[in-house]
Amino acid sequence: MEKKINFFQSVHFKIALVFVLLLLVSVEIIGAIFIRELEQTTITNFKTNVDVQVEQLAANLSSELSSEEDDDVNLKRLVNDFVQNDILEVRVIDEKGIVRATSEITDQNDVGKKNDYGSLTNVNEQGIEQKDAVTGKRVYRKNQQIYSPSGTTVMGAVYVKSDLEAKYKEISNITLIFFTASMIAMGISVTIAILVARGITKPIGEMQQQAKRIANGDYSVKVDVYGRDELGLLGETFNELSDHVKEAHETLESERHRLDGVLSHMTDGVVATDRRGKVIIINEMAQLLLDTTPEEALTKNIVDLLGIDPSYTFRQLVEEENERLIDIIDDKDEHTILNADFAMIRRESGFISGLVCVLHDVTDQEKSERERREFVSNVSHELRTPLTSMRSYLEALSDGAWQSKELAPKFINVSLEETDRMIRMITDLLELSRMDNKKLVLQKELINLNEMFRFVIERFEMMMMSQNLNYTIKREFTGRTIWVEADSDKLIQVFDNIMNNAIKYSPDGGQITCSLLETHNNVIISISDQGMGIPRRDLRRVFDRFFRVDKARSRAMGGSGLGLAISKEVIQSHGGTIWVESEEGKGSTFFISLPYVPMEEEDLWD
Ligand code: ADP
Repeated sequence: MEKKINFFQSVHFKIALVFVLLLLVSVEIIGAIFIRELEQTTITNFKTNVDVQVEQLAANLSSELSSEEDDDVNLKRLVNDFVQNDILEVRVIDEKGIVRATSEITDQNDVGKKNDYGSLTNVNEQGIEQKDAVTGKRVYRKNQQIYSPSGTTVMGAVYVKSDLEAKYKEISNITLIFFTASMIAMGISVTIAILVARGITKPIGEMQQQAKRIANGDYSVKVDVYGRDELGLLGETFNELSDHVKEAHETLESERHRLDGVLSHMTDGVVATDRRGKVIIINEMAQLLLDTTPEEALTKNIVDLLGIDPSYTFRQLVEEENERLIDIIDDKDEHTILNADFAMIRRESGFISGLVCVLHDVTDQEKSERERREFVSNVSHELRTPLTSMRSYLEALSDGAWQSKELAPKFINVSLEETDRMIRMITDLLELSRMDNKKLVLQKELINLNEMFRFVIERFEMMMMSQNLNYTIKREFTGRTIWVEADSDKLIQVFDNIMNNAIKYSPDGGQITCSLLETHNNVIISISDQGMGIPRRDLRRVFDRFFRVDKARSRAMGGSGLGLAISKEVIQSHGGTIWVESEEGKGSTFFISLPYVPMEEEDLWD
């Protein structure tokens, strides 16, 4: 997620702000002290200066006032001369309180009149600062008594008004200059502060960007090193760090690729989990075996993924199991049996960080193991039945039945029949075993299939006649003579078996249809009956060893359940296929397809 820093929270802003505030505070303090000092000195100097001048004037006026001359020409000249620069007004009063001279042109009428500024007695020699009543400007008023030259008597007083406003104006001008200068300084310092802050925050910002890129897996860009200061060193170290991370990442990646390569080329399925049992790795084979996708598997716990009883926890799996068989049933109801080997992943500290499960498809082994067990039990069962029955007859004979002319031959006959059945079965089993061990060598020759099939059918017709059976056999033969390369004895055995079954499992009087047709490169032989048929669910199983739809009935008919199994092996060893179509209660059709290459008649004699 992109983290955006608010400008006002940034280091950049904070540094600049600190700079500016520092400067502002110091400038303010310096300014305040400076201006205050300036103001005090200027005003005090001014006042002292005025005071001295006024004292001087008073001394000069003293001699003028004491002179006997009647006109005050000199007095007036002194007064007028005094008014210059900062002095605004001068008024001289004699001891009677009469105005003797004034510098104000507009007040000339007051000369010779009683002064309205106040009497001599309350002349305040202390200068005062006040606002001028007329102009409203600040002025400094200084009253000075005029003593006689001897200094004994008061001869009058002089009033002086000086311009303080101009001084204040001067000070405020200086303040303005100071303020402007400090503003300029502030502006410059803000710029410097921003630049300095940028100098610090830019490398930091770059490093932050780079760290983000590294986090996203991009190691290509380096941060710029701007100098040999702490930030420069940090940048260098950061680049080194980035190189290390890159190397570590590359090593890790190549390890991961190697592991991925190994895992994906493994013929066993591998599932790895974290310490809570959540799937973190699943290779292609495991996906195939468990019929899942990585997206689906990676959200699951291994207990759910393997379809182990949900009451079983991951902890139990870790503690108890080394190996277990897992039966997986797919949509088509087909079972896959997997052998799951479990191993814990332990850290050096002994801490369990997960579990590895190796899955191996053992469906075939399990199936053949199951078949072997079933086969042994079937064989034992099949042999036990005739043996038990023989034993009971032999027992009866030994108990005295041998003396009975009626019973003895019957019992012996049954025993012989049972012995024959056992011999037949063992012969069949031996044959199957030879086929299983690939010891059966086919005596292949070129056979006229039409002729051979006809021969089998005719034999059955004769057999039926001798046994008074009324089946009709219908022939549907192709007009073409079919020549195939095959072991004729074995093929006859197959035809016999299927014809036999057609008679065994259909009622007398029914029709059996034998057909022989050729397609482009196959010859199809089919034998249909109108018998009891085979339930749909058993259609595929009738070719299994010892499988019988109705055990009792089949056994009563002398069947062992091996005939079709042998037929299937024979046809398959000829490169053909055998299958059955059937409708229960209506009849069954057995099909045999054999590879066939159509040949011209004369080719045979080449
Ligand atoms: P069996 O010796 O029992 O006949 P097979 O291997 O020849 O042994 O046949 C296996 C089973 O298939 C029989 O037990 C029977 O249930 C069934 N089957 C075979 N052929 C037919 C058929 N034409 N009609 C009905 N069921 C049949």
